[in-house]
Amino acid sequence: MIKITEHKKGLKMEGFLSLNTAPSVNPFCKHMSKDKACICAQCYGRYMERRYPRAKQAWIDNFKALTTAVLTDEQAANIADVFNRKRRLVGVRLHSVGEIYNDFHIENFRKIVSNIKVDIPVTIWTKRLSFIKGLKERLQCNIIYSNPRINTVIEPSHFADIPVLHTFNVYDDKVQQNADMARLKASGINTVECTGSCKDCMVCYPKYGTETAHCAIFELTRKAQGKTRS
Ligand code: SF4
Repeated sequence: MIKITEHKKGLKMEGFLSLNTAPSVNPFCKHMSKDKACICAQCYGRYMERRYPRAKQAWIDNFKALTTAVLTDEQAANIADVFNRKRRLVGVRLHSVGEIYNDFHIENFRKIVSNIKVDIPVTIWTKRLSFIKGLKERLQCNIIYSNPRINTVIEPSHFADIPVLHTFNVYDDKVQQNADMARLKASGINTVECTGSCKDCMVCYPKYGTETAHCAIFELTRKAQGKTRS
């Protein structure tokens, strides 16, 4: 049974639902977390797993269910129904914790998304665009490329053959972030600094298929935000 995460009042994704899997059992996440130049070395999902063991177990179960077989049409429709039936839903995020692991995983996401019938924005975050490129049928949701390298920016125009909406770039060096934002702005590229309140911002959640300007989004790590405030 897939467990959907409901994001509570006062948190960044208040009003959203997300479908997550456990980084602790994902070999890709484990590999990336060993690289200090990669944001995965500071993975917020692994922190959440340590803090909330019940959530961790649910995300482990989700990982097993989504990466070992293709869901039946009925199973995919039942999962999508959780989103379809939710009242006052602001948006859906595919992975607020975790990453695509294999072809089963992305095909299951595609099947679930194709069964979402309500008019709400759905966005997938991934560092692994090759899986999206490999899909036989198009993924009917917004795609954000999550740049794995900390303190660097990838321009949204970088991806010619995959319909990436925005790139999401994380920094723990505020000075470097400001310099990169200024550099991109000067060359006419849209830049956005993540506000930490998705329902008030919605830059990452336009209605799928609408004409939307591509952006490079910048976010400071929580730790760096703490340092900035002090
Ligand atoms: S840029 Fe806006 S919509 Fe995107 S993650 Fe940040 S607060 Fe949420």
